[in-house]
Amino acid sequence: MLNSDQDAQEHLMNENNSADSEGRVHTFTVTADPDPMVRPLPMTLDQALDYLHHGVLVAPSPEFPDAVNTRLASAAQTAARQCAKVPAAATQRVLNLLDVAVKAPTQVQRVAWHRRAADALSSAFAPHAACRAGCSHCCHIPVKISAVEARALGKAIGRAPVPLAEHQPASVTGYNSPCPFLAGGRCSIYAERPAVCRSHLNMDEDALLCELLPSGAEVPVPYVDTRPLMAVAVLIAGEPRAAADLRQWFPEHLLGQRPRRAVPCPPPFKIQDENHA
Ligand code: SF4
Repeated sequence: MLNSDQDAQEHLMNENNSADSEGRVHTFTVTADPDPMVRPLPMTLDQALDYLHHGVLVAPSPEFPDAVNTRLASAAQTAARQCAKVPAAATQRVLNLLDVAVKAPTQVQRVAWHRRAADALSSAFAPHAACRAGCSHCCHIPVKISAVEARALGKAIGRAPVPLAEHQPASVTGYNSPCPFLAGGRCSIYAERPAVCRSHLNMDEDALLCELLPSGAEVPVPYVDTRPLMAVAVLIAGEPRAAADLRQWFPEHLLGQRPRRAVPCPPPFKIQDENHA
């Protein structure tokens, strides 16, 4: 990542003063003075890259508590540092598995290989992530999966998903509306959980930014970039509009399970367990 606008400008100048195949040097002038006719950029280059990478603008907001705003100043760098610890071979393995998923002959097999890719991503990144057993903030946010994955999950757990046409129009989320499979702060279908749950990893130093705010303001969390996984999920689904929240596919009242108590991760957030000693 480029560290500053000055780095970016130098990078751009180096890029633009390049020789072609016949050795001719093409020079483009990049002036330091901004053109007065050009409107100022709405964000810095780092912010734009964060926006591109995380889908949210990593910037302080008066809607956020001070601790969150303070953390946002360092979270993107922390995440980049943690992600850099993952060997390239491990991320390549994820891509290889996605390739196998796309080429698998049946939808069931594609879903299975996609899930393996999500597991491979998790194995590579989880040791460097803030996520710990018992932390369930992300089980209270929207958890959207495709119809084909809902059917596969339903088959694995012996519960038929509600057909899309019969879904409630909106899925309420938040600490009072956890995923129907959350039980006592833990996933009750851990072995069968969707790919999105397997690959949802916060690469910050702890779960502070995952905490849901009472105001509902959405805090940007430096999650692992899972766009390749998401793209393949859409390819496999073949019907991108046929995606919905787990709460819609498997409404709690139809699961016949006791209401679940929301157990957000208590501070200190770094809960160590046998898998993350
Ligand atoms: S399926 Fe499990 S991991 Fe995924 S949101 Fe629900 S409780 Fe959490």
